[in-house]
Amino acid sequence: MYFTYEQPEFDLNDLDEIRRVIAEAYENGREHTSTGKVADYIPELAKANASDFGICVKNMSGEKLSFGETEKRFSIQSISKVINLAASLKFLGFRETFSHVKMEPSGDAFNSILKLDLASDLPFNPMINAGAIQVMSMLSNFMDYDDLLSFSRAFCMDDKIMLNEEVYCSERDTGDRNRAIAYLLKSKGVLQGDPDKTLDLYFKMCSLNVNAESLANMGLLIANGGTNPFTGKHIIHPGYIRTIRSLMYTCGLYDESGEYGVLVGIPSKSGVGGGIVASVKERWGIGTYGPALNEKGNSAGGIAALQHMSHLLRLNAFC
Ligand code: GLU
Repeated sequence: MYFTYEQPEFDLNDLDEIRRVIAEAYENGREHTSTGKVADYIPELAKANASDFGICVKNMSGEKLSFGETEKRFSIQSISKVINLAASLKFLGFRETFSHVKMEPSGDAFNSILKLDLASDLPFNPMINAGAIQVMSMLSNFMDYDDLLSFSRAFCMDDKIMLNEEVYCSERDTGDRNRAIAYLLKSKGVLQGDPDKTLDLYFKMCSLNVNAESLANMGLLIANGGTNPFTGKHIIHPGYIRTIRSLMYTCGLYDESGEYGVLVGIPSKSGVGGGIVASVKERWGIGTYGPALNEKGNSAGGIAALQHMSHLLRLNAFC
């Protein structure tokens, strides 16, 4: 952790310097993998290699800096919540989406059920399980898995994204906590679709196979206001991107979002498969992969590398 407010001057156009800093960030991240452990509550995730680490940074011209494990596919897990939210904003709009889910950080673990029963009928935000299941219940009424898959491919600029069948079956077979969330929402009359269909789509979206580069692409699309910088195709309106970035910033790292916001300060979203997507407005998409997670369920290596980069390259949104 950096305790200093001293930051060196930096020329963000100096590619050699940037390469040097990202290489250092990679080393830093790789070293920190030993401080975490892989998720095992979904049995298939426990098979990941805890010492794997990779980082991919891409700019609007398609220049790419990759270090380590950036091609290995892993399940997107909670990072799919960003795609679900994007689909909901695009196809249902802001007002309808946020009539059914709030936009407040929860301060609780990703799969917590506490606030849902004690504090509010509506889930706190779309970046935690309850909120993503709620968003999925809305989408389930007019999108099927194939629709969501093609939207995910466009959103990550990656046509090779597929379902990881093993992870999907493992999620489905052990997803009782998510079932509890969906049925609690149904019992309150707030779930917007059939719970089993909703859960099946939710599990499938968590089980999409991405790599660090797909995540860098997703970050880049968001950094570019929702337009694919290489084809010029508009995937989602820039106004919705503002909402997505804000929620990534405030809620993207579960109950570590506040600390991450101070120490890294880049709109990001993590997943228990070990990925983190980060989006530096008008500049870069960043994807990291490191399945060794800290106690909050965030990639230990990913956080260390992003903190390193953010500090030295002054990427904090409030810098
Ligand atoms: N599929 C996971 C679950 O619902 C996603 C958790 C995550 O990545 O935060 O438990």
